[in-house]
Amino acid sequence: MRVLFLGTAAAEGVPGLFCGCEVCQIARQRGGKDLRTRSSIFIDGVLKIDLPPDTLHHVLTYGLDLSGLQHLLITHTHEDHLAVHELAYLTPGFAYRQQPLTAYGSEDFVRLLAGMSDNLRQWLNLQSLQPFTPYEIDRYTVIPVLAHHREDEQCLNYVVSDGKVTLLYMCDTGWYREATWRYLAGVRLDAVIAECTKAFVDAPYDTHLGLTEVLELKERFRTMGITHSATRWAITHFSHNGRPLHQDLEAFCMPHGIEVAYDGWEMTL
Ligand SMILES: [Zn+2]
Ligand SMILES: [Zn+2]
Repeated sequence: MRVLFLGTAAAEGVPGLFCGCEVCQIARQRGGKDLRTRSSIFIDGVLKIDLPPDTLHHVLTYGLDLSGLQHLLITHTHEDHLAVHELAYLTPGFAYRQQPLTAYGSEDFVRLLAGMSDNLRQWLNLQSLQPFTPYEIDRYTVIPVLAHHREDEQCLNYVVSDGKVTLLYMCDTGWYREATWRYLAGVRLDAVIAECTKAFVDAPYDTHLGLTEVLELKERFRTMGITHSATRWAITHFSHNGRPLHQDLEAFCMPHGIEVAYDGWEMTL
């Protein structure tokens, strides 16, 4: 399984579009891995997770061809994960395609798009997913698990297996609640990609994770037998508020066996 990180930032991007904070200024000067766009991953060029507002930039930067994309998993409807207005460009005149796109997400996601035009409906299939239920999508088994992220919307993280390796994409979420732990107790993961919005700066809200929590998470996964000695760990989805400069993150994470994702990084499992 090849996991291409198209973007690795939280809502504002790093540097933020209009931001002049110290971290964003350093990111602008250093460039490279410190430049982060809104989060999405692309699995084997087949299964895409999320449609951030930087998607056209991703297409141009990585030479992607999304004209044949058939499967889009949506974690939740925050704008950094679902740029809903971009979906209009699926329709004839804006796009010439052979097949419609199917977007999968929670019932709340499907409800948000219920009012879409008939024109769009011909080119965009919506499929609602129930948490903790396996779905066969292309050659993958996809199991949505409940994230802890918003009170007013069911947000999903995804377990994706190709029959050889099993990955968990934890973005966006805070510390999981009991139902998710109960489910994960029966799962064996070869890779975990955890969000790390708060990175070095702990903030009092519990709908995102920071480095301290990722370390706790890694330990809990290990003791519960969800992960094994060869399980890969990576962190993504950074906000400037967490001071996520790449070399600092790497220096912190490397001793803990955690890789730090950056835009354009391909993780081969
Ligand atoms: Zn986000
Ligand atoms: Zn979010």
